[in-house]
Amino acid sequence: MSNFNWCHGPSCHEKHTVDRVRGVKGSKVLRTRKVPINRWNENTIWRFFCSTQCQLDFATYHCAEFLEERYPRTEALETPINDPKKTNMGYRWNDWEITVDETRQR
Ligand SMILES: [Zn+2]
Repeated sequence: MSNFNWCHGPSCHEKHTVDRVRGVKGSKVLRTRKVPINRWNENTIWRFFCSTQCQLDFATYHCAEFLEERYPRTEALETPINDPKKTNMGYRWNDWEITVDETRQR
């Protein structure tokens, strides 16, 4: 196993920063950043991304297809509750006591 990942940000190689510049004079490129794997990121999502922006770019590009294909939600979920009871005057949403009805199946 290598000790780094190439950043998974789909536009990492298009961001104009000096540390991404590689190659010899006359044929320079902007290259995807390497993300070193270390004890701070080895068990987190940060081993795949060089920055918050690259993580957001990835989510924007791939989250919708991932959720729609792998975890489609075709109907709403529901939690059975007892009839809500007013506490205080009931002027705000949190002036209601809402409890789960454990006798009904979920
Ligand atoms: Zn990146």
